[in-house]
Amino acid sequence: MNRTFNIEKLTEVKEWDIIVIGGGATGLGIAVDASKRGFKTLLLEKSDFAKGTSSRSTKLVHGGVRYLAQGNIKLVVEALRERGFLLANAPHLTRIQQFIIPAYSYFNKWFYGVGLFVYDLLSRKLSLGQPSLLSKKTVLKKMPLINPKKLKGGIVYTDGQFDDARLALALALTANDLGGTVLNYFQVTQLLKKNGKVIGVVADDEWSEKTFELHAKVVINATGVFVDSILDLDDPNTSAMVMPSQGVHLVVDKKFFPGTDALMIPKTNDGRVLFALPWHDRVVIGTTDTPLNIISEEPIALEEEIEFILLHFNEYTTAQLKRKDVLSVFAGLRPLVKTSNKTSTSLASRDHTILVSKSNLITITGGKWTTYRKMAKDAVNNAAFIAALPIVKCSTRNLPLHGCTKELKYGDPLSSYGADAKIIKSMIVEDPALADKIHPHYDYCFAEILFSVKFEMALTVEDILARRSRLLLVDARAAMEAAPVVAHAMAPLLNEDLAWEEEQVKSFQSLASGYLATAS
Ligand SMILES: Cc1cc2nc3c(=O)[nH]c(=O)nc-3n(C[C@H](O)[C@H](O)[C@H](O)COP(=O)(O)OP(=O)(O)OC[C@H]3O[C@@H](n4cnc5c(N)ncnc54)[C@H](O)[C@@H]3O)c2cc1C
Repeated sequence: MNRTFNIEKLTEVKEWDIIVIGGGATGLGIAVDASKRGFKTLLLEKSDFAKGTSSRSTKLVHGGVRYLAQGNIKLVVEALRERGFLLANAPHLTRIQQFIIPAYSYFNKWFYGVGLFVYDLLSRKLSLGQPSLLSKKTVLKKMPLINPKKLKGGIVYTDGQFDDARLALALALTANDLGGTVLNYFQVTQLLKKNGKVIGVVADDEWSEKTFELHAKVVINATGVFVDSILDLDDPNTSAMVMPSQGVHLVVDKKFFPGTDALMIPKTNDGRVLFALPWHDRVVIGTTDTPLNIISEEPIALEEEIEFILLHFNEYTTAQLKRKDVLSVFAGLRPLVKTSNKTSTSLASRDHTILVSKSNLITITGGKWTTYRKMAKDAVNNAAFIAALPIVKCSTRNLPLHGCTKELKYGDPLSSYGADAKIIKSMIVEDPALADKIHPHYDYCFAEILFSVKFEMALTVEDILARRSRLLLVDARAAMEAAPVVAHAMAPLLNEDLAWEEEQVKSFQSLASGYLATAS
């Protein structure tokens, strides 16, 4: 995936079949689907791929046990099917994870046991294994720090887990492999129109500071919580489609939650589900559901959200986690579709919605990472109809994503690159110094920087530390410490100078300080 080469295509192609605005799960899924159908596809992302919500999820590939409790069977069945497809198509980025619900009454043990039995039944042939009831002794053996007081046992069930930002990159690379053109740091600033219909976009390349007029048969707005700003460009009178809801996660050392099973707390006092799950050798705890009026590219965890997670985690464990123990805090905004009669965002539907404007602009939002493929299918079907493109069926269900391999085991430091790990290893053979780590406590090495700049369109220190590696989310302080060496390694690869290095380090430190859980 080469940015310069892709930018050259912008002048070569006079009219695209489909332009996709937004390079998160939704937009990238659409780019893969449209490219696979043979449509001339261009995707423009204003920042880096997955800079938005798609790098800030709970990292679950799941049907959503909570949606079952809400009675949204359709969404659960759809998501469980998609879970099965994703686990098969991206084994290098997903894995099967066991979850335990601790039960503090016999009623709850049976209630959740039956619920999870139904959850598993709904996955039909794509079942990952039946849930089972556990004794108190077994729960304590599997989760040594679970609060034993009044514990009556638990229920173990199976779901999926993944690396969200790396999956987004795999989608970008897959679209690219299929002939699609994807570009990061390209912001759409205007919609081009003729006779009231959208016929393209105006977009700025942040890197070269050049502006491009790009024509297309149809334009899809897949900008997550930002969809309303694109709808505004189309018609300033359109009413808002999205109500953002913030979710926060804390990342802590494994000693606060040892073991290989994930904890699932089915009902907190605001009706949320709280997870604590192993991820990149640390534990991710979350999440919250806070309605917000401000939509920001870099949302910041609220004090009460951090306190909420600490309180509930400490209630269900004996860990006695404190703020100072938190390695990183990250926040994301759910693009929930507005409905007039919902008072709480935790009750709002996680279904996706497609809006076709009078101008033929197609907008898609809502949904979940797990259902990105189905969302893409629905969006491309609509786009093909609107633009009268040749009828080609969606064929992504069994499409292996870029790097797909089962060769590398989970835990191998290069496993998320899948088949591309070979390239990184060969770089190290050529120059053994590239095996050096960027931080003494983490496996990420300099060869990965070289690989990501050359083949994954990494352009900034943040791209490397937040989304190519996940160090910012795993340990914000370590990421801040590594920033200068990362900038120094990137500068010659990007033909940049010392001033660029200094500016990159400064802007990364400022961003990363928002991931520290220090009390305000
Ligand atoms: C806290 C939290 C936890 C979650 N956990 C899970 C989970 O465990 N499992 C699951 O399945 N789902 C989960 N989700 C849901 C999932 O993360 C989202 O549904 C999904 O990431 C949304 O992707 P998106 O592409 O629609 O939006 P985004 O990822 O936000 O992508 C939109 C992109 O559009 C770009 N953009 C905006 N304006 C422009 C413009 N003018 N020009 C070009 N580009 C533009 C933005 O920069 C952004 O990158 C979670 C969500 C949250 C908030």
